[in-house]
Amino acid sequence: YGREDFGWSLELKQLAAKHWNITQWRDKQLDVMNASLDNRDTFVLMPTGGGKSLCYQLPALIGTGITLVISPLLSLIRDQAFHLEEAGIGVGMLTSNTTPEETKRIMDDMLGPVAPKASKKGSKNAALPKTNTQDTLNHSSRVLKLVYVTPEKISKSKRFMNHLEKVYANGRLARIVVDECHCCSNLGHDFRPDYKKLGILRVLFPNSPIMALTATAPPNVIESVLSTLNMGPIGRSNNGTLLFDTPLFRPNLAYKVMTRPSANQETFQFLANYIRTHHRENSGILYCLSKKDTHVFATGIAEASGGHIATSAYHADIEDDKKELIHEYWRNGRIQVVCATIAFGLGINHPNVRFVIHACMSKSLEGYYQESGRAGRDGLPADCLLLYRDQDASRLSTLCVTEPEGLTNVYSMIRYAQDVRSCRHQLFDVHFSKHLSTRLPPCGFCDNCVLAGQDIETDDVRTDVRALCLLLDRLKDAKDRVTLNKLVEAWRGIGASRSIARLVRDEYHTEVASKRANKDDYERIINHLIVGGYLREDFHFTAYSTLAYIVNGPRSSPFMTKQSPKSLPSVKVEFGR
Ligand code: ADP
Ligand code: ZN
Repeated sequence: YGREDFGWSLELKQLAAKHWNITQWRDKQLDVMNASLDNRDTFVLMPTGGGKSLCYQLPALIGTGITLVISPLLSLIRDQAFHLEEAGIGVGMLTSNTTPEETKRIMDDMLGPVAPKASKKGSKNAALPKTNTQDTLNHSSRVLKLVYVTPEKISKSKRFMNHLEKVYANGRLARIVVDECHCCSNLGHDFRPDYKKLGILRVLFPNSPIMALTATAPPNVIESVLSTLNMGPIGRSNNGTLLFDTPLFRPNLAYKVMTRPSANQETFQFLANYIRTHHRENSGILYCLSKKDTHVFATGIAEASGGHIATSAYHADIEDDKKELIHEYWRNGRIQVVCATIAFGLGINHPNVRFVIHACMSKSLEGYYQESGRAGRDGLPADCLLLYRDQDASRLSTLCVTEPEGLTNVYSMIRYAQDVRSCRHQLFDVHFSKHLSTRLPPCGFCDNCVLAGQDIETDDVRTDVRALCLLLDRLKDAKDRVTLNKLVEAWRGIGASRSIARLVRDEYHTEVASKRANKDDYERIINHLIVGGYLREDFHFTAYSTLAYIVNGPRSSPFMTKQSPKSLPSVKVEFGR
């Protein structure tokens, strides 16, 4: 579909120049627009800031009929409607804030300018629809072209749906757009129950093509979105959905991972220095794992900076008025750093965010990519820093174990955080674009690229794996269980589990215990072994908490032996530089 010989090609070009001053398409934009105008279902996977909106806003101007856009948040809808209005395009929003008069006007306009006779639309892949040259005149007189609604309108408003059926019967529902479509899937983050109900659209309006857009969706999320929306599988067949994706490369984002100091006070000081040194004048986001942490960090950083850095906490329980105010102050620079949970997200359209710092890992690499991707939407250089400690791993896995794919997601995040060798952009590329045949070259500016020449401290831990596996096997027989902390203590031969430690040493005569310099190294090894499948987390739920015990994993059996270490498979752990 990347061709310029369709009936609408010239008009597309002219409209892009007229309304947006755009003279060149980015990546797959033209393909998407052509496919949609050819009445095909499309799935658009492009990075944040990649230019997804144009893919449906421009086709909306071609021909008669309206483009219905479903978008998750009022602030997003307002933002888009405002920009379209500015560009001189007929746009309507139907939200909880729309007045009855305005609602009536939009609803009437949706039906069309004159009493239309019911037109029968051909089958979905009929000959190309003719462009309506008469309609071109209307563009300047603000004929309604796009209508934005929240998903609740589809799932809850019978009146609106009845009306939409009339619009459709009049042949005026040109296409349906589901923005942030990953919200359909409970496999990802950001799941919204109202998105689950959007499957009704295909049932009621089988001939209106659907365009689903998102910045992040691994293959299983794509599948789940397609099935929720009742769209066909990815493929070129007649009822198939065409997938358009662009490599997720954001050349202006410098990714890095650093070890978070163990004490909070040190972390605040580190962050205050980092921000004062690299981002004195810039605004940014600090993502925290819990609501409580947002307050702790907001206060901590402000104090550590001697009051130079204006911060604010932001999370789901902050009152709406205050949220609005934080958004406003942050946009105009009165607040420099918003310390937030992921509740601070969907509505952000601030183009010059210069840094996004994560005080703790996200629950998945998808989440991390999406959150950090809020930096640098204007295309200028920006930093994405992740602060990591191995202790965070078990905290996150107990938090996520009940979510679908929760552990798989957490482990992909841990792999990213522990990786001291691979280009960060390549890691994203491999994770998100497995199906693409071309791979990105190393970026040259992420931490792992910049420090590529330096020695990496690596150790073969096969004897440690053996000791741990045998120990866990014995504990299982004794019906004893250990958490990460207990296991580390036992292994080091300190604390309550001294007897277990002795057992490790005496029985297998390996010098595993107390060999390493610090506690962090033990945790790093155990996490590596969990993520790699040598060990496994076994979760126990009580009314008050979830406990993660460590047991042998699927790859432990070759290590359940007392043979010489040489016969064991090698297990390399990288500790950093
Ligand atoms: P997304 O929805 O994918 O996050 P947007 O649609 O908001 O991204 O687009 C980001 C910015 O890029 C907008 O300012 C938009 O006007 C601009 N843009 C989109 N397409 C083009 C293009 N072909 N050429 C130049 N700028 C573009
Ligand atoms: Zn790199």
